[in-house]
Amino acid sequence: MIADTIQQIERQLAGKAALIAVTKTKPVALLQEAYDAGCRQFGENKVQEMAEKQPQLPADVQWHIIGHLQTNKVKYIAPFVALIQSVDSLRLLQEIDKQAARYNRTIDCLLQIYIADEETKFGLSADEAEALLADNALDELSNIRIIGLMGLATNTDDQEQVRQEFRGLKALYDKLAQIQRSMIQFSELSMGMSGDYLLAVEEGSTMVRVGSAIFGSRN
Ligand SMILES: *Cc1c(COP(=O)(O)O)cnc(C)c1O
Repeated sequence: MIADTIQQIERQLAGKAALIAVTKTKPVALLQEAYDAGCRQFGENKVQEMAEKQPQLPADVQWHIIGHLQTNKVKYIAPFVALIQSVDSLRLLQEIDKQAARYNRTIDCLLQIYIADEETKFGLSADEAEALLADNALDELSNIRIIGLMGLATNTDDQEQVRQEFRGLKALYDKLAQIQRSMIQFSELSMGMSGDYLLAVEEGSTMVRVGSAIFGSRN
Protein backbone atom coordinates (compact mmCIF):
# COMPACT_ATOMS: atom_id res chain seq x y z
CA MET A 1 0.00 0.00 0.00
CA ILE A 2 2.66 2.50 1.09
CA ALA A 3 5.00 1.05 -1.51
CA ASP A 4 2.41 1.53 -4.29
CA THR A 5 1.85 5.15 -3.33
CA ILE A 6 5.56 5.89 -3.18
CA GLN A 7 6.09 4.35 -6.61
CA GLN A 8 3.19 6.34 -8.02
CA ILE A 9 4.55 9.61 -6.63
CA GLU A 10 8.05 8.81 -7.91
CA ARG A 11 6.58 8.21 -11.36
CA GLN A 12 4.80 11.57 -11.24
CA LEU A 13 7.97 13.35 -10.12
CA ALA A 14 9.80 11.70 -13.03
CA GLY A 15 13.20 12.58 -11.60
CA LYS A 16 12.48 16.32 -11.59
CA ALA A 17 12.24 16.57 -7.81
CA ALA A 18 13.39 14.41 -4.92
CA LEU A 19 10.77 12.89 -2.64
CA ILE A 20 11.20 13.65 1.05
CA ALA A 21 8.85 11.34 2.96
CA VAL A 22 7.47 13.34 5.87
CA THR A 23 7.26 10.86 8.72
CA LYS A 24 6.40 13.06 11.72
CA THR A 25 4.12 11.31 14.26
CA LYS A 26 4.42 8.02 12.33
CA PRO A 27 5.84 4.88 13.97
CA VAL A 28 9.20 3.43 12.98
CA ALA A 29 7.54 0.39 11.38
CA LEU A 30 5.98 2.66 8.75
CA LEU A 31 9.30 4.38 8.12
CA GLN A 32 10.87 0.97 7.59
CA GLU A 33 8.09 0.13 5.12
CA ALA A 34 8.83 3.33 3.20
CA TYR A 35 12.54 2.53 3.33
CA ASP A 36 11.88 -0.93 1.91
CA ALA A 37 9.92 0.72 -0.90
CA GLY A 38 13.01 2.76 -1.79
CA CYS A 39 12.70 5.95 0.29
CA ARG A 40 16.02 7.20 1.62
CA GLN A 41 15.10 10.75 2.62
CA PHE A 42 12.85 11.39 5.59
CA GLY A 43 11.57 14.67 7.00
CA GLU A 44 10.70 15.25 10.64
CA ASN A 45 9.65 18.46 12.35
CA LYS A 46 10.69 17.66 15.93
CA VAL A 47 14.26 17.16 17.07
CA GLN A 48 13.51 14.65 19.78
CA GLU A 49 11.34 12.48 17.55
CA MET A 50 13.98 12.45 14.82
CA ALA A 51 16.80 11.65 17.26
CA GLU A 52 14.78 8.71 18.63
CA LYS A 53 13.94 7.27 15.21
CA GLN A 54 17.34 7.74 13.59
CA PRO A 55 19.20 4.85 15.31
CA GLN A 56 16.28 2.50 14.58
CA LEU A 57 16.58 2.85 10.80
CA PRO A 58 19.38 1.92 8.42
CA ALA A 59 22.37 4.25 8.45
CA ASP A 60 21.94 5.37 4.84
CA VAL A 61 18.73 7.28 5.60
CA GLN A 62 19.12 11.03 5.07
CA TRP A 63 17.28 12.95 7.78
CA HIS A 64 15.81 16.37 7.09
CA ILE A 65 14.55 18.76 9.74
CA ILE A 66 11.57 20.60 8.26
CA GLY A 67 10.09 22.27 11.35
CA HIS A 68 11.06 25.23 13.48
CA LEU A 69 14.43 24.51 15.10
CA GLN A 70 15.45 26.00 18.43
CA THR A 71 19.15 26.80 18.82
CA ASN A 72 19.46 24.81 22.06
CA LYS A 73 18.36 21.62 20.25
CA VAL A 74 20.80 21.69 17.34
CA LYS A 75 23.31 19.63 19.31
CA TYR A 76 21.03 16.57 19.33
CA ILE A 77 20.89 16.27 15.53
CA ALA A 78 24.29 17.70 14.54
CA PRO A 79 26.00 14.29 14.36
CA PHE A 80 23.72 12.92 11.65
CA VAL A 81 21.28 15.43 10.12
CA ALA A 82 21.53 15.63 6.31
CA LEU A 83 19.66 18.89 5.67
CA ILE A 84 18.16 21.54 7.92
CA GLN A 85 15.36 23.02 5.82
CA SER A 86 14.02 25.54 8.32
CA VAL A 87 16.80 28.04 8.99
CA ASP A 88 15.35 31.44 9.82
CA SER A 89 18.10 33.40 11.59
CA LEU A 90 21.81 34.14 11.69
CA ARG A 91 21.89 33.00 15.29
CA LEU A 92 20.62 29.57 14.28
CA LEU A 93 23.19 29.33 11.48
CA GLN A 94 25.94 30.21 13.96
CA GLU A 95 24.83 27.46 16.32
CA ILE A 96 24.58 24.90 13.48
CA ASP A 97 28.10 25.85 12.42
CA LYS A 98 29.42 25.48 15.96
CA GLN A 99 27.83 22.06 16.46
CA ALA A 100 28.83 20.85 12.98
CA ALA A 101 32.45 21.76 13.76
CA ARG A 102 32.38 19.57 16.87
CA TYR A 103 31.69 16.58 14.63
CA ASN A 104 33.99 17.70 11.84
CA ARG A 105 31.04 18.02 9.49
CA THR A 106 29.61 20.54 7.08
CA ILE A 107 25.85 20.73 7.52
CA ASP A 108 23.69 21.74 4.57
CA CYS A 109 20.90 24.24 5.23
CA LEU A 110 17.96 25.85 3.45
CA LEU A 111 16.54 29.24 4.38
CA GLN A 112 12.84 28.99 5.13
CA ILE A 113 10.98 31.76 3.32
CA TYR A 114 7.59 33.01 4.37
CA ILE A 115 5.34 32.87 1.29
CA ALA A 116 1.92 32.02 2.69
CA ASP A 117 -0.97 34.30 3.39
CA GLU A 118 -1.22 32.97 6.95
CA GLU A 119 -0.08 34.25 10.32
CA THR A 120 1.16 30.99 11.77
CA LYS A 121 3.98 30.09 9.42
CA PHE A 122 7.63 30.65 10.27
CA GLY A 123 10.21 31.99 7.92
CA LEU A 124 12.09 34.98 6.54
CA SER A 125 10.76 37.61 4.17
CA ALA A 126 12.56 38.02 0.85
CA ASP A 127 14.34 41.11 2.17
CA GLU A 128 15.40 39.37 5.37
CA ALA A 129 16.78 36.42 3.40
CA GLU A 130 18.73 38.73 1.13
CA ALA A 131 20.15 40.62 4.12
CA LEU A 132 21.13 37.38 5.84
CA LEU A 133 22.97 36.12 2.76
CA ALA A 134 24.86 39.43 2.59
CA ASP A 135 25.83 39.43 6.27
CA ASN A 136 29.60 39.59 6.87
CA ALA A 137 29.16 37.29 9.85
CA LEU A 138 28.70 34.38 7.43
CA ASP A 139 32.44 34.57 6.68
CA GLU A 140 33.10 33.10 10.12
CA LEU A 141 31.00 30.01 9.38
CA SER A 142 33.06 27.30 7.72
CA ASN A 143 30.96 24.28 8.71
CA ILE A 144 27.67 25.17 7.04
CA ARG A 145 26.53 25.48 3.43
CA ILE A 146 23.35 27.27 2.41
CA ILE A 147 22.12 25.28 -0.56
CA GLY A 148 18.73 26.85 -1.26
CA LEU A 149 15.29 27.82 -0.02
CA MET A 150 12.21 26.16 1.47
CA GLY A 151 8.65 27.47 1.65
CA LEU A 152 5.11 26.44 2.53
CA ALA A 153 2.25 27.71 0.40
CA THR A 154 -1.04 28.83 1.88
CA ASN A 155 -3.37 25.99 2.85
CA THR A 156 -6.13 26.83 0.37
CA ASP A 157 -8.10 25.26 -2.49
CA ASP A 158 -7.21 28.27 -4.63
CA GLN A 159 -4.68 26.66 -6.98
CA GLU A 160 -3.89 29.95 -8.66
CA GLN A 161 -2.87 31.52 -5.33
CA VAL A 162 -0.66 28.54 -4.51
CA ARG A 163 0.92 28.72 -7.96
CA GLN A 164 1.69 32.43 -7.54
CA GLU A 165 3.30 31.77 -4.16
CA PHE A 166 5.51 29.04 -5.61
CA ARG A 167 6.35 31.24 -8.58
CA GLY A 168 7.41 34.04 -6.24
CA LEU A 169 9.62 31.69 -4.28
CA LYS A 170 11.25 30.42 -7.47
CA ALA A 171 11.94 33.99 -8.59
CA LEU A 172 13.59 34.73 -5.24
CA TYR A 173 15.58 31.51 -5.53
CA ASP A 174 16.85 32.50 -8.99
CA LYS A 175 17.87 35.92 -7.71
CA LEU A 176 19.67 34.70 -4.59
CA ALA A 177 21.37 31.87 -6.48
CA GLN A 178 23.47 34.54 -8.23
CA ILE A 179 25.27 35.44 -5.00
CA GLN A 180 28.92 34.48 -5.09
CA ARG A 181 30.13 33.47 -1.64
CA SER A 182 31.82 30.23 -0.69
CA MET A 183 29.16 29.16 1.84
CA ILE A 184 26.28 29.86 -0.55
CA GLN A 185 25.83 27.16 -3.19
CA PHE A 186 22.23 27.03 -4.31
CA SER A 187 20.98 23.78 -5.82
CA GLU A 188 17.72 23.00 -3.96
CA LEU A 189 14.28 24.58 -3.89
CA SER A 190 12.08 22.71 -1.41
CA MET A 191 8.41 23.37 -2.09
CA GLY A 192 5.31 21.22 -2.38
CA MET A 193 3.45 18.97 0.05
CA SER A 194 0.72 16.31 -0.30
CA GLY A 195 -1.88 18.71 -1.68
CA ASP A 196 0.29 20.75 -4.01
CA TYR A 197 3.44 18.88 -4.96
CA LEU A 198 2.58 18.52 -8.64
CA LEU A 199 2.00 22.25 -8.90
CA ALA A 200 5.27 22.87 -7.05
CA VAL A 201 7.21 20.72 -9.52
CA GLU A 202 5.65 22.62 -12.43
CA GLU A 203 6.93 25.80 -10.80
CA GLY A 204 10.49 24.56 -10.33
CA SER A 205 10.65 22.60 -7.10
CA THR A 206 13.60 20.23 -6.72
CA MET A 207 12.40 18.68 -3.48
CA VAL A 208 8.85 17.85 -2.37
CA ARG A 209 7.91 17.07 1.23
CA VAL A 210 5.05 14.59 1.22
CA GLY A 211 3.51 13.10 4.37
CA SER A 212 -0.22 12.38 4.49
CA ALA A 213 -0.48 11.33 0.83
CA ILE A 214 1.86 8.44 1.68
CA PHE A 215 1.17 7.62 5.31
CA GLY A 216 -2.42 8.80 5.79
CA SER A 217 -3.63 11.71 7.85
CA ARG A 218 -2.09 12.57 11.20
CA ASN A 219 -4.29 12.99 14.27
C1 LIG B 1 3.98 18.20 7.85
C2 LIG B 1 4.78 18.95 6.84
C3 LIG B 1 4.80 18.55 5.49
C4 LIG B 1 3.98 17.41 4.94
O1 LIG B 1 2.63 17.73 4.92
P1 LIG B 1 1.56 16.75 4.19
O2 LIG B 1 0.44 17.67 3.87
O3 LIG B 1 1.22 15.70 5.17
O4 LIG B 1 2.22 16.21 2.99
C5 LIG B 1 5.61 19.26 4.61
N1 LIG B 1 6.36 20.29 5.03
C6 LIG B 1 6.38 20.70 6.31
C7 LIG B 1 7.24 21.85 6.69
C8 LIG B 1 5.59 20.05 7.25
O5 LIG B 1 5.60 20.47 8.53
